[in-house]
Amino acid sequence: MRPLPTQDELRAAADIVPRDAVVAIDGPAGSGKSTTAKALARKLGLVYIDTGAMYRALTCAALDQNCSPEDEAGLTSLLDTAKLELRPGDRESQVLWNGRDVSQAIRTAAVDANVSAVSAHGEVRRRMVDRQRRFGRAGGVVMEGRDIGSVVFPLASTKIYLDASPEARADRRWRQNRERGVENDRAAVLADLVERDRRDSQRAESPLTISPDALVLDTSDLGLDRQIEAANLACRVNPWLDARTDWDAETAWRRCPGKYRLVYSFLGPLGQMLGLTVSGRPTPTVPAGAILASNHISWWDPPLVGGTFRRSHVRTLAKKELFKGPLARAFFGWMDAIPIDRKGYDDEAFEAARRALEAGDCLFIFPEGTRRPAGEPGPVRGGLGILAQVTRAPVLPIYVRGTGAARFGGNPQSPLEVRYGPLVRLHALDRLLQDLDPRDVTVRVGAMFLSMIEELQARSHDEHAETDQERDLASHQRHQRRSKRPFD
Ligand code: C5P
Repeated sequence: MRPLPTQDELRAAADIVPRDAVVAIDGPAGSGKSTTAKALARKLGLVYIDTGAMYRALTCAALDQNCSPEDEAGLTSLLDTAKLELRPGDRESQVLWNGRDVSQAIRTAAVDANVSAVSAHGEVRRRMVDRQRRFGRAGGVVMEGRDIGSVVFPLASTKIYLDASPEARADRRWRQNRERGVENDRAAVLADLVERDRRDSQRAESPLTISPDALVLDTSDLGLDRQIEAANLACRVNPWLDARTDWDAETAWRRCPGKYRLVYSFLGPLGQMLGLTVSGRPTPTVPAGAILASNHISWWDPPLVGGTFRRSHVRTLAKKELFKGPLARAFFGWMDAIPIDRKGYDDEAFEAARRALEAGDCLFIFPEGTRRPAGEPGPVRGGLGILAQVTRAPVLPIYVRGTGAARFGGNPQSPLEVRYGPLVRLHALDRLLQDLDPRDVTVRVGAMFLSMIEELQARSHDEHAETDQERDLASHQRHQRRSKRPFD
């Protein structure tokens, strides 16, 4: 593994947090999210958004209007007709509900006791997430909440998960309340907090979780200054690491075997003839030692996505069944593909993958394990999560579109696109493994990948809306799958 940067190195990399950065800060109540997020926003010149205040404002309005926290339809209609504004304030954001300042009213014990129930409804969350994404897409933000890194901005530039013991958190809340002039009992604050944690992390819709790519900071024993400094450094870790994972084009080319150069010299022009557009890749090569993980819709994906890795030695993890027959075996052997037995845990394949990644090669995989109808990525199988745990390699999510109906000269009804996400490092794996079974960690990594692909797809659809032909193709693929090979 690459060594982590020293604090001095990170400090020296002064201006590497871009103006359009999205910093996601998640964590349980009282972990110090608000204070940290506000200070960070000020330091980095970004806009601070408190998403908890949004759920609180809705809860407050519901209590005012005798709408039950269990009444999903009532809550959504309240929200749909409301103008909800957040304005930067001195201590807390100013929250306006239909023009009325509710900044104080949303911090009462009654709101505390009901907000988790309100925020557990799927329809409420979808609407809130939409609003939050609109805030974030308008420019750089530091956004705090429970699901910012996992759901709202799966491709956030920095994800920080703040944690602290329940006692430390309750103590902070109790002090905060007293400063606000709200009299409260410490034991009751602790009980409320523990109950809210339980509800927030057990609800079905986007529960409070640690995204595998979050930097986890335990703030139990950190003073405020150190907590903010640590979060500030966290924003610089990934850009710092990026500068060291990218091969320069010359090194990549030197390491790229002749046979690969030959293949690239054929696939590059093929992509061009089919009107393929490639976006999101900051450098001419793919980063060294990364897992290149793409959604899968057609047999054209391996050559067309693979063709965009030009200049790099990329090994492919391919199901063992593909190596049947002398011709296929010779071809996949020539491509340096690594065969994997998908029936159980194939330690030989994972060990070969680990060695390849450690040597700086990349590994190309389709985490869904099979082709999926166009526009409907997922579900994700276990391979990616296991690989991530075995190799600790960073993951580069890649979204492919249009390979189901590619045509020479381009097909406007099925835009052909390969869209790269940012390189993702799974900083939180060890922390997750403290509490979870490795199989559950595997599921979390799969869920993270899927939400990233969905976000890349949403961005692609923003630029070129999904076409009728794509919808027809998806329905054809769904039908084929049902009649021939049901997905298991
Ligand atoms: O952060 P704060 O304690 O003000 O959040 C209040 C409540 O709002 C949380 O306990 C949680 O139930 C909900 N919430 C959420 N998702 C977010 C932010 C807050 O469910 N992104």
